[in-house]
Formats: sequence, C-alpha cells, structure tokens
Amino acid sequence: MTIDEKSRKTLAELGITDAAGVDTLFAEVRALLQAERTDLLARGAASAVERDRMCKELRDRWLARKNGILSTIDEKWLKAASKELKPAVGKSFNAVRQTSAALEIAALVKEVPVNARAEENRESSAAARTAAPEFVREVPSDLTLPGNRRPLGSLHPVTQMQREIEEIFLNLGFRIEDGPEIETVHYNFDTLNIPESHPSRDDWDTLYIDAQTVLRTHTSPVQIRSMEKYGAPLYIIIPGKCYRHDNPDASHSPMFHQIEGLAVDRDITFADLKGTLDFFAKKLFGEKIRTRFQPSFFPFTEPSGEVSISCIFCGGDGCRVCKESGWIEVMGCGMVHPQVLRNGGIDPEKYSGWAFGLGIDRFAMMKYDINDIQLLFQSDLRFLQQF
Ligand SMILES: [Zn+2]
Repeated sequence: MTIDEKSRKTLAELGITDAAGVDTLFAEVRALLQAERTDLLARGAASAVERDRMCKELRDRWLARKNGILSTIDEKWLKAASKELKPAVGKSFNAVRQTSAALEIAALVKEVPVNARAEENRESSAAARTAAPEFVREVPSDLTLPGNRRPLGSLHPVTQMQREIEEIFLNLGFRIEDGPEIETVHYNFDTLNIPESHPSRDDWDTLYIDAQTVLRTHTSPVQIRSMEKYGAPLYIIIPGKCYRHDNPDASHSPMFHQIEGLAVDRDITFADLKGTLDFFAKKLFGEKIRTRFQPSFFPFTEPSGEVSISCIFCGGDGCRVCKESGWIEVMGCGMVHPQVLRNGGIDPEKYSGWAFGLGIDRFAMMKYDINDIQLLFQSDLRFLQQF
C-alpha cells in the first residue's frame, strides 16, 4: 500500500496500535517526501514554464490545504487518533511538517535546474541522478525570427525647437555661444546695467547662492562674456537654461530655456534688428507671419521693444490663444545700451548693436500646441513619445 493510499485510512484501519507503529509509518512518509524532492532536482526541467509547473505540482501534492498528503494525514491520522496514540502522532506529524524537505518544497522552484536535456533525463532518470545536469541556454526554436527591436528615443521638444532656432541664425552667419549657469552678480546684473534697486535682483525673483553668486536669471551675461572674449564685430546666439524664483504653474517654471541673439558691428541700426527678427519669424512660423514692434523698457537696451507676431493659430482674425487681439507677444529686443557695450570693452562711438531674447519653452509650446509648461519637464513617456 502506498503512502497515498495509507494517508486516506485511519490508524485503526491500518492496524497501528502503538507508538512504535506510528514512528515506522511516519519514517515512510519522510522518506517518500525526500525521494520525490531529490528526484525533481535531479531531473531538472526543459524550460522555466515547465519547471514552474513541476514545482507547483509537487507543492500541491504535499502541501495543498485540500487533499494535500499532509492535510489528509492531519485529518485521518492525527485528528482521528485514539487518546493514547495522539501524543505520538502529533509529535511525528510536526516533525514531518518541519523537515527541511517539506519546508523547502515551497522554495524549490529556485533550485530546479532548467536544461534542454531534461527530457532525456526523465527517460533515464537513474543516470541523471548521478550526472550533474548540464546548463544550456534556451534556444529559440526558429532562428529566422526577427530579433527584438530596441526603441530609439527622439529629441525633446525643447531641444527640437532650440535646434530649429539655432539653424536659422547659423545660416545668417551667427555663432553659438555658451556660458555658466551659476553666474556672478557682476555678469548677471552689474554689467548689464541693471541697477542695485531693480526689482529683478530681489530674493523673490532671483535664486542667490551667496551675496555675489546667483543662478543666472537670463542668458544675457554671456553677451558681456563674449564681448570681452571676442570684441567687435560679434554675431552670436546664446541658448541655455535660466532660473527664477517662480512657483511652478501652467506657464511658469523655476527652470526654463532662453535663447538670445546679439549683433555688434559698425553702423548697426534698429532697421537691421527689425529685418532680422521679421526674417526669423517667417522662417520659423511661415511666410504669412507678420511682426509688430512696440516700445518697451529693458535696462540693457535703448531703445527697447516687444515683438509680437500675427497669431499662428487664427492668422490674425482673433482667437482664444491671442485673446482675440490677432497678435501674440513672443520676445523682447532693443539696441544694446552704450553702457553695456562699454562694460563689455567695446567702444560705443565706433560700434552699435542689437539684441533680442525669447523663451524656447514658450516657442515649443506654441509650435506643438502644449498648454502646460510643466509637461516639458516631467519626463512622462506618454507625453514625450508624441514627438
Ligand atoms: Zn489667434
């Protein structure tokens, strides 16, 4: 009679009446459990799926709450035992439950080797028990199947916009310049003619590292650095990250991207500025785009202006985006203040220049119809994969 059969009978039915009989019976149970576990380890499995199935099968056979061998023994042998035999049965039953074999069945799945020769092993399992199973990597059955493609990323919409703008100015003969994001008060404010009292210097607008060091609030410090480095004539654009003490919302981010342009040469006039920016707007948004210049004020330019373009969404008829005005304000500009040229070591009697600055993020938002600047910096793949 097998253990399977015996486990379904009570001890009385099996004719066991003393502790010695109980011990012998449980020794048989332990031996079977150990043998089945050893056999599975020796056989191995042909695949991970097969391995999982085999381990589950063994686990269920022994440990399942319903009809598992140990549960059946609990019912038929322990609970139904006579008063005299119960202590002996209880002791032996606990011993079986706590054998390493029983405990390890649950963790067995990690140990059973997966190997392609498991089928052979099963047929000659005696040989497999003595020879260590050979580990072979799983080989796909059809080698002509295409491989797994690794998806290529794409450029971030802000990078795409930055490169588009750079391209236009590179074709006009401008050069790209770069500067530090951690900047001195000297370059960020003083040399740009921004007085001590100017509100932009306030703690609420500027992120200070110490009294003389800030996270640059604009890319304009690179204007002075470049003038010092190259002198005149100078045709540069300056893209980069800037930082301001802004709470993040749909149109503000404490970190944002700016690009600005600077042209310094003999006889540069406001007409050159207007012509260049009009050309730029048409290149970027299409030939039908018109530009509008309105007077404004910046400490580092004189005169200064705000540039608007005819609404790219309604063509100037008026819509939600342009607030029915037909125009969208897109950048600031002006003729470089003589004091700023002087601060950069350039003689304003000989040279003049213009400068403009715009937000790359805002341009990207306009071009791709994005309504929340935060989306650009959240690294959400569902958003980024659209570009
Ligand atoms: Zn509009």
